[in-house]
Amino acid sequence: MDKPEKIYLASPHMGGEEMKYIQEAFDTNWIAPLGKNVNQFEKEMAAYVGVKTGAALSAGTAALHLGLKALGVGEGDVVFCSSLTFSASANPIIYLGAKPVFIDSEPETWNMSPAALEKAYEQYPNPKAVIIVDLYGQAADYEKLSALCKAHHTPILEDAAEALGATYQGQKCGTLGDLSVLSFNGNKIITTSGGGMLLGNDEALIQKTRFWSTQSRENERHYEHKELGYNYRMSNIVAGIGRGQLKVLEERVAKKKQIFEAYQEAFKEIKDIEMMPVSDKGKPNCWLSCMTLKENSVVKPLNIMQALEKENIESRPVWKPMHLQPYFKAFDFFSHCDPENEQSIAEDIFNRGVCLPSDTKMTEADQQRIINIINSFF
Ligand SMILES: *Cc1c(COP(=O)(O)O)cnc(C)c1O
Repeated sequence: MDKPEKIYLASPHMGGEEMKYIQEAFDTNWIAPLGKNVNQFEKEMAAYVGVKTGAALSAGTAALHLGLKALGVGEGDVVFCSSLTFSASANPIIYLGAKPVFIDSEPETWNMSPAALEKAYEQYPNPKAVIIVDLYGQAADYEKLSALCKAHHTPILEDAAEALGATYQGQKCGTLGDLSVLSFNGNKIITTSGGGMLLGNDEALIQKTRFWSTQSRENERHYEHKELGYNYRMSNIVAGIGRGQLKVLEERVAKKKQIFEAYQEAFKEIKDIEMMPVSDKGKPNCWLSCMTLKENSVVKPLNIMQALEKENIESRPVWKPMHLQPYFKAFDFFSHCDPENEQSIAEDIFNRGVCLPSDTKMTEADQQRIINIINSFF
């Protein structure tokens, strides 16, 4: 028998209008470097989330890098960063020669724990910036986190790479930091094949990052460089895809929410399974539907992932926390719990968590197949 068709965790899903913008770029020969799509994509995205402006860049990682630089991070500075995240959140700290200090999650949102952040401030009262991640499409608890950061005069770089379309207290993710980062990588809720954006309200500061992203070329006839440059700007073709994708973002959020709710409903009688908690302070975009197995469950995440894999269905463990990564091992970590006696929240979620297929092209029948495989364990 043929293998059943592959079901993906999250894969690109075009809306239909992307080609129109790409065609326009071709027709006007504005394939590269800049052009109307780049400017319009920045304007449209800034308007959508509700900030003044944005710089369209080649990746979310590039946006984090230039965002940190814009906040003044440099050699030897301390930067606090969520531990439970993708490595791209933390790598740019190293690019700048700064020192990451990792902060644990809280159980309520899986995002940065205010209690752990307070502990970190006791030891490091003067970090240069804090990178707060909105994990799996849910906003961190900014009310508490921002108050702490404000009291210590630390700017926040919001890593909203996974959270475009989500809200916190009525405000969109992408507006919750002093600067905020989006990603349009292939697995994100909307994609440009690859790309990112740095968002903020300080036009001069964002303009500076556009300058850095195009090799820091001074306004001279010859190429004059007073500052280090980067080749991080988004191309006009890529921005065209983004403009088309932005048109279907709300549709994608609605579908992702439906997927999450179908899992929630299907597993509600299974004592061993808990879906990722949803805080009532915001509305997640449900980028990935994640679940945890109870600690005493005889079924382990690997059992579920292997059973799905056999049926050509993709799933994945929850992000392995940065403080447990060999590369970042030497850096400090502050736990939400008592580090002498308890495992951290991030490590516990990593050990018990599974990211379930959350692809917006998935049919109800596809999802039922996934649910049946998982149900068969219980
Ligand atoms: C995807 C992602 C990034 C990086 O984005 P790229 O566009 O792939 O560089 C950063 N942070 C988080 C949390 C992500 O999930």
